[in-house]
Amino acid sequence: MAVVEPTGRSTTDVGGRESDRLAALGQLDLLEAPRDHGIERVVRLIKNVFSIDIGIVSLMDAHRQWYMACSGLSAEEMPREDTFCQYVVASEKPLIVHDTTKDPRFSQHPAVTGEEHIRFYAGVPLKTRDGHTIGTVCAIDRTPRAFADSELDVLTELAGVAMDRIELLHSAATDGLTGTLTRRAFREEADKLISLAIRHGHALSCIVLDVDHFKRVNDTYGHSAGDEVLKAVASACQSSLRASDLFGRLGGEEFAVMLPHVDAKGALAAAEKLRGAIAAQAIHGDFGPLAVTASFGISALSTNTRDSATLLAQADAAMYLAKSAGRNRCVEWEAGRQAGPRQSVLKAGAILYDDRRSKVGCTIRSLGPDGATVTVSNSAGIPPELVLVVAGEGFETRCQVVARDRQNLELAFG
Ligand code: GH3
Ligand code: MG
Ligand code: MG
Repeated sequence: MAVVEPTGRSTTDVGGRESDRLAALGQLDLLEAPRDHGIERVVRLIKNVFSIDIGIVSLMDAHRQWYMACSGLSAEEMPREDTFCQYVVASEKPLIVHDTTKDPRFSQHPAVTGEEHIRFYAGVPLKTRDGHTIGTVCAIDRTPRAFADSELDVLTELAGVAMDRIELLHSAATDGLTGTLTRRAFREEADKLISLAIRHGHALSCIVLDVDHFKRVNDTYGHSAGDEVLKAVASACQSSLRASDLFGRLGGEEFAVMLPHVDAKGALAAAEKLRGAIAAQAIHGDFGPLAVTASFGISALSTNTRDSATLLAQADAAMYLAKSAGRNRCVEWEAGRQAGPRQSVLKAGAILYDDRRSKVGCTIRSLGPDGATVTVSNSAGIPPELVLVVAGEGFETRCQVVARDRQNLELAFG
């Protein structure tokens, strides 16, 4: 976690390197990126080539390490300060620990002393073309072992393969699993629709939807059942929408729609139709029939809201309200009650509460003059009133939690 000094300068951000790194990660739009078979293949290769227990391709957020693909561990993410990989990201160099019990940095680590029984670690930086370390690629074992220079070369090559794949995913227009537009392509097309709507003075609205308790589907029935659910949700939406509507997958289990010539009232009706279609659908597979629901947020073009980032941020904020209100429902964004203009960012932050006695690291995902959306490892213990600190900028403000889900908080300043 970044420590904020009284000057406002983050001690972990020497020369602004960390904020540049986060900006590079933000540009790739990878957080909550869909699972990818190409990256999973890299992880399988790591395990097979080195005959090792655990392979990981991870991304390092401001507050957590997040596994794009991982084989051999059950967790999906970990607080940044608890990771071995933080050293790789900080030094931007490979790290090899032949025997974790003999290294004072790791010998008392719960992953070493506890059930995971980690004994060997080799991690190399996952670097963008511009040289920013956005994550790591690791080979990990439960017995101590040697790692030859030639093996380090292979791991470094595999990190290159993973990075090439990430760049390819970023430039792709369609999502491999659902065949719908990727986040980036959706935004590009959405901006074109918005320009047209503004020029011709017609209405346009936006719906963001997120599958409810989707993690439970994965945890109970496995990831391939989860994948089937996502395909079924996408197809239920597409068959309920008009050909002129734009549909895309924003991330893991989050989708969005742009509806040209439709105002907020019409969009609410469309969202209700989608909600009903998803909830009514029985999804069949070798896991048996399964039903899921989704929560919806709606926003519309107005004189203050004239770009896709703001429209999506408002619909997203309304969607979190739908989650807070019990899920499987549609909520319309209301000016004044929720987020005003928002900028999509990726910044390190900290949440202080309990008279500043408690501190939780967070990643700030969007920021505006009156609020922010932040991601934390677990939102459960965080009270409704808190102080948000933007690391390295000397910015600090009191906030109210307007809405939340398992890992995201929608904050209003003041
Ligand atoms: P909530 O109702 O608050 O939205 O809870 P949730 O469980 O739906 O949300 P959460 O964000 O906690 O979990 C989403 C999960 O989706 C975690 C992630 O591993 C999984 N996921 C992301 N992309 C994919 C994918 O492509 N396939 C599968 N099977 N799972 C995915
Ligand atoms: Mg969800
Ligand atoms: Mg989600």
